[in-house]
Amino acid sequence: MDKEAVAAALGSIRTHAGLSAVADKVLEGIRISPEEGLMLYREAPLAFVGMLANHVRERLHGDRTYFNRNFHIEPTNVCVFACNFCSYSRLYAHREEGWELDIENMLGIVRSYDGKPVTEVHIVGGVHPKMDIRFFADLLRRIKAHRPDLHIKGFTAVELDYMFRKAKMTRAEGLAFLKEAGLDSLPGGGAEIFDPEVRTRICADKVDADGWLDIHATAHGLGMHSNATMLYGHVETYAHRIDHMERLRQLQDRTPSSPSSSATRTTTCGTWPKPPCWRTTAPMPSPASTSTTSPT
Ligand code: SF4
Repeated sequence: MDKEAVAAALGSIRTHAGLSAVADKVLEGIRISPEEGLMLYREAPLAFVGMLANHVRERLHGDRTYFNRNFHIEPTNVCVFACNFCSYSRLYAHREEGWELDIENMLGIVRSYDGKPVTEVHIVGGVHPKMDIRFFADLLRRIKAHRPDLHIKGFTAVELDYMFRKAKMTRAEGLAFLKEAGLDSLPGGGAEIFDPEVRTRICADKVDADGWLDIHATAHGLGMHSNATMLYGHVETYAHRIDHMERLRQLQDRTPSSPSSSATRTTTCGTWPKPPCWRTTAPMPSPASTSTTSPT
């Protein structure tokens, strides 16, 4: 849809002058402010926001849509952290209720996709105190040796922060070490909501917003892609969501970008748009027998 057609369609939706001004900026390709984003969240009809969003999408990507055929490896759900929303993990003291895969178990998962047209393996799990950076580097090398064509997206900033601190490596050293072993990109988990007060309420003991953003910025500096998630629908407000997206936008702004690809860009995606799954104490089946929501 061209700009004039979008403007005409938007004009048929009853709004107010403030929203019309925001729409004009979007149609002209002018960046909107956090306050204007908040106005859209609070006051704009869904169809109005959807049309603006689709206009930006088409401006950036035309009518192309991309699909990724991937599979997951979840090495463990044993975790040193205790996020309030997480019903996935088990503390180390209760690890018999969870699972801990060894390298052979995980290579078996990779081999089960032999001959299948998958393009990526996504590795993410709990933060296990005994699975260190060398364990995971070994895993990465062996996956690449078996299936060099697979893109490996692995380890949230939460997992990486713990791994690097335990190995006494800087973030740059740790990421370079894992990249050399075969890590291609980072998933977006662990971002939750960046606001410190919300973070204190929902995930007080893991890496904070600045640490999460710094790990992703460091990965971008090494030429790696990364994603970002936003965990919403719990105790946060619309203002917290906008603040979250603004911090990601600032990260994109200060990340060097390649003219030929979006390799150093971060993208956002909403996750778990439902009441959070607060901690439970029931034993968890292993990922081999169930479909689980990835941890963050
Ligand atoms: S969300 Fe991630 S870091 Fe938090 S308890 Fe669950 S697995 Fe551990």
